[in-house]
Amino acid sequence: MSIEELRDKINSVDTELIDLLAKRRGLSKEVIQDKNDNKNPIRDQKREEELLKRLIKLGKQKGVDQHFLTKVFYEIIEDSIRLQQSHILNPSKEVTGKERLTIAIQGIEGAYSYLASQKYFAYSNKELEFVSKKRFSEVVEAVEKGEADYAVLPIENTTSGGINEVYDLLLHTTLTIVGEETFQVKHCLVASADVSVHKIKKIYAHYQAAAQCSNFLVTLPEARIEYFADTAMSVQKIAEEKNPEFAAIASEEAANLFKVNIIRKEIANQEENHTRFLIIARNISKVDNRLPAKTSLVMATSHAPGSLVKALSVFDAYKINLTKLESRPILGNPWEQMFYVDFEGNRDDENVQNLLDDLGPYLRFFKVLGSYPSQVVKKTKLDLHESVDVKDDAYVEKIKEIQKPIVKKKAKAKSYKLASREYKEDDTIVKVRDVEIGGDDFVVIGGPCSVESESQIFSCANEVKVNGAQILRGGCFKPRTSPYSFQGLEWDGLNYLEAAGKEYDLPVITEVLAPEQVLAVAKQSDIIQIGARNMQNFSLLKEAGKVHRPVLLKRGMMSSIDELLNAAEYILAQGNRQVILMERGIRTFETATRNTLDLSAIPVLKELTHLPIMVDPSHAIGERDKVAPMALASKIVGAHGIMVEFHPEPEKALSDGPQALRYPQFAQLMIDLKKL
Ligand code: PEP
Ligand code: MN
Repeated sequence: MSIEELRDKINSVDTELIDLLAKRRGLSKEVIQDKNDNKNPIRDQKREEELLKRLIKLGKQKGVDQHFLTKVFYEIIEDSIRLQQSHILNPSKEVTGKERLTIAIQGIEGAYSYLASQKYFAYSNKELEFVSKKRFSEVVEAVEKGEADYAVLPIENTTSGGINEVYDLLLHTTLTIVGEETFQVKHCLVASADVSVHKIKKIYAHYQAAAQCSNFLVTLPEARIEYFADTAMSVQKIAEEKNPEFAAIASEEAANLFKVNIIRKEIANQEENHTRFLIIARNISKVDNRLPAKTSLVMATSHAPGSLVKALSVFDAYKINLTKLESRPILGNPWEQMFYVDFEGNRDDENVQNLLDDLGPYLRFFKVLGSYPSQVVKKTKLDLHESVDVKDDAYVEKIKEIQKPIVKKKAKAKSYKLASREYKEDDTIVKVRDVEIGGDDFVVIGGPCSVESESQIFSCANEVKVNGAQILRGGCFKPRTSPYSFQGLEWDGLNYLEAAGKEYDLPVITEVLAPEQVLAVAKQSDIIQIGARNMQNFSLLKEAGKVHRPVLLKRGMMSSIDELLNAAEYILAQGNRQVILMERGIRTFETATRNTLDLSAIPVLKELTHLPIMVDPSHAIGERDKVAPMALASKIVGAHGIMVEFHPEPEKALSDGPQALRYPQFAQLMIDLKKL
């Protein structure tokens, strides 16, 4: 077949795909009608899970990669949920047909507020007309005066934080929040001609955008920054001026709208740069109680000591989850604060009304800014395993009994304090993205000993994901016994590991060897690992205590349990209370295995400390065929999880090949662990 013919064929497949998507949306709408009539909830996670499992199975038969398939279907499901939500929010729109909505934004077409509005109102099926204003206050006024139906205002950004001016406006307006939208901001450098970035002499930028791209901007010392009130207008300006030495920071969409060139993409400090927008209107709209809702509130606590704590404890008493707490000075009252609180719940819920009642005594002012449907669509968690036989309850109870730590106070004074059960009785749960280590779930960290190439770590990440493990490991800086052995891919390796984690939505862990590395590695790795050889590298421990990332601390191969806890104390004492301990085998007179796995350390540690404790059977045993039984034993004795090494081709591994599980062995181990 010629290339033209092939392209024609692809085009017609794409057309078919669109037809099918449209057809699916049509059916989805009928489902909404049914859910509406029967007052059923919008989300049915069980059904979503079954749907995905069925598709993955089908995909497997047809040779479609399951990771790709889940990604596509997550999008389709999200679209369907949003479609259904919008129907509940606006049930009459199908009847009334096309109508026009007037939306006030700060900035012109192409501004981020414009793009976010389009995203938010896309499901309303209505024509949008924009009222463009220079200042946030004018945007609010436009709705107050009836010039526009809605205002769409940015409230916070995941890189630069809250937008103070908007917070202050919310306090003084009579308008109410009726919705929220998040928008991923992808800043680009754009210019009127296709020039090299180093030719640029002047950059027009919104101050927030410039702040979010500060790392990139310092690489262009020749370029002068000129602050501009809004991003799209800065693009309009360079389009008009046509000076090839002038550039602007804006979105790809704005560049396309004004037909200018993108000369550099992805210039933001943080790739994950999202802005949250509020949709504001004159009238309160009731939020259907089938939708997950959020409420925003502004409050000033009374002058008495401890009043903020008391106010917040009311949220705790009602088991209401806070999603945001921001403080702003009260204008005219120096050193006094107003608190902006977002929480999960609907102001019409009885629980929320009672909360507001009980909150009253601790406040001297409060105002509900609005209840609105929460826009974050939580992905259905998929366990890609075939389900295994359910164990009988008595057996589960028995296992729990075995694993329970015996908490008893020891009279003997200890050289560590923060790590001890006496200091903190409840188990510490270390949260890494949405994985909890130290709670009821048995967590599996899997991956190769070393990151060896981009394709190797991506392949391993896929293996972690499809087998239902939670965290991806990969050494980038390797502590090798011989200086002539492979030392790791270092920063390149870390880049690959980070990218694999992003692609497969898995937290990643890697080892640090030197104090100077800690801060930089913490930027890219979700967990910092301190290896057995460095357990008593005190300057390394202290550095790890200063970062915000959890630290996985391995027991030294010649260290006692007491020394391990003292090493943990070094990290805890610096302020970082997220330490995970790991037993990885110790040196004994026995030489049959690489080390001797000290499984008795697990119940002992559970008695002495509140910190989570995991096991690394791979480094303990050193031989792949004996790793699985010890991994299973680890679960039985009550470890909170394990870390195991596997490799696509263990014979070719650059480090620790003999202990690396083969893929099918890892898959089998995951199934066997489930059965326990
Ligand atoms: C590792 O996990 O890759 C490692 C080097 O382990 P350990 O520090 O336990 O030897
Ligand atoms: Mn290893």
